[in-house]
Amino acid sequence: MRFKRQPEDILKALGIYEPEDIDLDLIAFSLGAEVKRASLSDCEGNIIGTDTKAIITINNNVNLSRQRFSLGHELGHWINDRRKNLTYRCNTNDMGQFSIKKNNFRQNKEVRANQFSAKLMMPTHICLKYLRKQDITIETAKYLANEFQTSVTSAAIRLIEVSDQPCMLICWASDGKRRWFTRNSIIPDEIWPHERIMNLQNIPINLNGIEAEADKWISSDGAEDYMVVESLFNNGFDYLTLIWWKDESQLIKMV
Ligand SMILES: [Zn+2]
Repeated sequence: MRFKRQPEDILKALGIYEPEDIDLDLIAFSLGAEVKRASLSDCEGNIIGTDTKAIITINNNVNLSRQRFSLGHELGHWINDRRKNLTYRCNTNDMGQFSIKKNNFRQNKEVRANQFSAKLMMPTHICLKYLRKQDITIETAKYLANEFQTSVTSAAIRLIEVSDQPCMLICWASDGKRRWFTRNSIIPDEIWPHERIMNLQNIPINLNGIEAEADKWISSDGAEDYMVVESLFNNGFDYLTLIWWKDESQLIKMV
């Protein structure tokens, strides 16, 4: 989905080129939005505004990386959904929406706000400096999460988007059902993850950068013949598998 202003452009206009300078309160102020924090029971963040000014309130009962994500999300509404009367109250479900759905106007606005937040917190022009020669593993996602003060899940999503190496991130519910996945454009459309992983809970978590047969995670034809590099992580709600086609020639053979 398109943004009315690119997060990277907003940061560059403010001279921000290092992760420690991504001060979201200051960025909000520069964009005409005042930020407050309060204990909120029914949402993670809300925004009330006109077309020129807004007040954003962020739930401060959660950890700082979630508060940052919520603030980035509300700024996404401020930049993209601004009109004479702007009111959004966004809960954890809204903040977890990453899949565009046909004819679901409201959900798609939440998806766009989430995409905006992820890019504001981890802009491409800064991420690239931190990604040089890094393996595509959960350890790298954790390293990025620490540098950019985000959750490991957000960092892993941006790792996939920004990396110039073929990789995929799959999110599984604890019963093994696939909830969502994302892959970068290097991965051909024909390559899909399984819809369900049997006995997911028996797989050791905190696998990092281990060679595995591709068909453990991938259902496409020929996956049983090739190897990928896998990482597995539990973010407290779901399981995340990060898959890296370290040897790109194997990816070509699979298609
Ligand atoms: Zn929202």
